[in-house]
Amino acid sequence: MFRKILIANRGEIACRVIATARRLGIATVAVYSDADAGARHTRLADEAWPIGPAPARQSYLSIAMIIATAQRAGAEAIHPGYGFLSENAEFAEACAAAGLVFIGPPAAAIRAMGSKAESKALMQRSNVPLVPGYHGAAQDLPTLAEAAARVGYPVLIKASAGGGGKGMRVVERADDLDEAIQGAKREALASFGDDRVLIEKYLTRPRHIEIQVFADTQGNTVSLFERDCSIQRRHQKVLEEAPAPGMDPARRLAMGEAAVAAARAVGYVGAGTVEFIAEGDAFYFMEMNTRLQVEHPVTEMITGQDLVEWQFRVAAGEPLPLRQDQLTIRGHAIEARVYAEDPARDFMPSTGRLAHLRQPRDIPGHVRVDTGVREGDAITPHYDPMIAKLIVWGEDRTAAVRRLVAALSDYEVVGVTTNLDLLRAIAAHTAFASAALDTGFIARHGADLLPATAQVEDAAIWAAAALTAVRDQDTAIQAAARATGDPWSPWAAVDAWRMNGDGYQDLRFRRGDEAPVTLRTHPLADGSFRLDLPGGPVQASLIEDATGLLLLLDGVSRRISVARRGAALTIILAGRNHALTQEDPLAPPRTETAGGDRVIAPIPARLTRVMVTPGDVVLKHAPLLMLEAMKMELTLRAPMDGTIAQVRHAVGDMVEEGTELVTFATAP
Ligand code: ADP
Ligand code: ADP
Ligand code: MG
Repeated sequence: MFRKILIANRGEIACRVIATARRLGIATVAVYSDADAGARHTRLADEAWPIGPAPARQSYLSIAMIIATAQRAGAEAIHPGYGFLSENAEFAEACAAAGLVFIGPPAAAIRAMGSKAESKALMQRSNVPLVPGYHGAAQDLPTLAEAAARVGYPVLIKASAGGGGKGMRVVERADDLDEAIQGAKREALASFGDDRVLIEKYLTRPRHIEIQVFADTQGNTVSLFERDCSIQRRHQKVLEEAPAPGMDPARRLAMGEAAVAAARAVGYVGAGTVEFIAEGDAFYFMEMNTRLQVEHPVTEMITGQDLVEWQFRVAAGEPLPLRQDQLTIRGHAIEARVYAEDPARDFMPSTGRLAHLRQPRDIPGHVRVDTGVREGDAITPHYDPMIAKLIVWGEDRTAAVRRLVAALSDYEVVGVTTNLDLLRAIAAHTAFASAALDTGFIARHGADLLPATAQVEDAAIWAAAALTAVRDQDTAIQAAARATGDPWSPWAAVDAWRMNGDGYQDLRFRRGDEAPVTLRTHPLADGSFRLDLPGGPVQASLIEDATGLLLLLDGVSRRISVARRGAALTIILAGRNHALTQEDPLAPPRTETAGGDRVIAPIPARLTRVMVTPGDVVLKHAPLLMLEAMKMELTLRAPMDGTIAQVRHAVGDMVEEGTELVTFATAP
């Protein structure tokens, strides 16, 4: 076994690999970019080495820098994690050339599976079933249009070199094909340096079912069963589970054998995943991911195996720890990916500092949180916006779903927008409980899953806000009184002391974009308050104990959390965030700044295309600019008919959220 390894990755997967290495007594070397100095993975590792600036191309994707670092640190092997260099055949070869073990498959297997088109041709020869489609070399429009017509609309265009959902377009009608191909090719070229595409029949209600395979250097290849990853948004996984609901043993065997055949066909070694798309009784090969998968923990939970340990053993030349007939499935596991993104804004990534972070407690064997961040860390636009993976296990699916619901309600994140509400809504949905899964689940149940504001406990939120403001005021005044040396001054009292009788204090809060609300607070003799809330008066108090805050409202107590930064207040009630702003009653009224006569960047992004120049006359909704941020391409359109006055940035510029990009000439 290795003495020391380097992990060429960041975030949760770097932490995950370090955990197993530590358990096995293998020393670890972390690497980090300027954006990740002090990040969780650098603290968990035995050593951490800087490898360059924030952009991945100059750090986590720099083969020369990573190899040199491994050599300087005296590592014997490199674990690539997922993403970054994990499926890069040149990197695997560079490791070998430098005398380092690449903890992954042989370069030839990565290459064979690296192109979706070529791997399909290969699978066809091994009699693995394929979705009807076209994966030929000719890329001219007539050829592609003819193929699409033959396959029948709707069709799906995919980047051959693709991954992470990039360069993928659904096309409903022949008229839209040309534009979709252009878009897919542009995105593919920008992301993978290769603009080739393939066409598949677009299945309308499929399930994504994938098989975890493992092979060693002695010729053994096994299947560690399936994962169902059908709950997706924008063709990317959100929730994954194992085993797949409704999978019968014969079909499991057939899919497992097809996956093992696929692995054998390319001389596979190590951990790999063969992805199938299934509809009815049929299943078709989609692609093979030649690395450890994001969702590998659900397989670990049901098989009781540590897949990173298996990777280390295989890379060190040992045989697979278990034979196929020694592998069994126990219970049911579900993983939820907690993302910094806004489901209400088409899942746009959200960036910022995690001002408050409380995660469900790990319960070995039952609840597991894999994360790369701590409270105070930032989600930056440089990397994937995943905050954590929550994995739960239960004796059966019902128990696992129940545990998922419970654990999700213990999740608290303030500082970035997250998909937690969406995850909770899915976990609690009857269609999810009855395992009615397919890749259109989120889109179809959108209305149930993304309520504007669910039945929130308004009174509790207003009361928590008012009492927190009073408490904070109290603390500030006491501190000020201590500083001036007279804690007994009547001016230091915070009980709304008035010369005559019934004291009160008015506090103003604004919730989201709603009109501000004035709350009147009256201190009572027992330390509680009478609050005049929009829904009527209540009696309330706030109690702080060892586990946090308790809100007592008309005799009912609830656990709450409050995170405050200046005037911004986040009340967390039953895991749900409610953002409020406390208004200064003396401040002038807020003016609306975002007019309809300009276009601003909705997220931090890179400008990839500019379609207009000053003086152009455009109609409302005309495309003006294209941005690329993290995993997506975004088109910004004209907010009105008008004449372009200024285009303030050029292609290639990185722009912050809120940056003004285009202005319109004011009406003549
Ligand atoms: P998986 O197929 O393992 O579930 P995903 O489909 O979520 O993973 O993503 C596909 C691959 O793209 C993963 O290896 C992931 O790490 C990688 N990836 C995701 N986001 C980014 C990003 N912003 N930059 C580079 N690679 C990414
Ligand atoms: P990536 O490399 O981005 O992971 P995949 O080929 O694995 O690309 O496809 C990603 C997702 O897109 C699948 O999980 C599935 O939801 C959807 N998808 C892929 N192919 C099809 C298809 N032919 N019909 C319908 N949905 C598909
Ligand atoms: Mg895939």
